[in-house]
Amino acid sequence: MTITQAEENHLKAIFKIAEKEDKPALTNAIAAAMHTTAASVTDMLKRLADKNLIVYEKYRGVQLTGEGNRIATALIRKHRLWEVFLTEKLGFAWDEVHDMAEQLEHVQGEHLVSRLDTFLGHPKFDPHGDPIPDAEGRWTYRKQSLLTTLLPGDRGAVTGVDDHSAAFLQYLDQLGLGLGAELELLERFPYDHSVRVRTRDGRELVLSEKVTKNLYLNILSDRES
Ligand SMILES: [Zn+2]
Repeated sequence: MTITQAEENHLKAIFKIAEKEDKPALTNAIAAAMHTTAASVTDMLKRLADKNLIVYEKYRGVQLTGEGNRIATALIRKHRLWEVFLTEKLGFAWDEVHDMAEQLEHVQGEHLVSRLDTFLGHPKFDPHGDPIPDAEGRWTYRKQSLLTTLLPGDRGAVTGVDDHSAAFLQYLDQLGLGLGAELELLERFPYDHSVRVRTRDGRELVLSEKVTKNLYLNILSDRES
């Protein structure tokens, strides 16, 4: 069975929507993710259903079959391994690699992926902090919290982002808040839900609610109950 790049991209979109919303993906959500119309998504869904890659029930949404899930997971694995390669080995910044990885993920070859994985030392997370599934499709999850949930006095290290746009990643670079950056929450402002934080090198920053809703950290401090 041959699967086109467009079909692969739809499977990946369905996987990501279902993962994020924790329920079957609806046609409109898939269309929004693919920047296309609901009508063309409906055509695509019929084709994917004919190939037994999805189960499609009108109004209930779309679920991946075992094979559909396997293909989507393999694509995400390739995408994120290429992102690690591009940043760690070719020196690209974390805001530059996504579009290149969108193309590289479609390059076929079992051995290519496994050698890339070995070459990179079997990384578990990509440059944005997202988990990379292993060759068997197993995911490594870790405990992380959105900055919105931290309490004054909490310290944390940045582990990931919800907004993957280049604009947000560049802004985080400007603030010195890349992956691994440590900060302490000093104060929350109820007026606009912004927060004041102190970085490890002693700088104090005020972060907007938009930033706090898109930044994941693992909490380092012991909370006193
Ligand atoms: Zn990416």
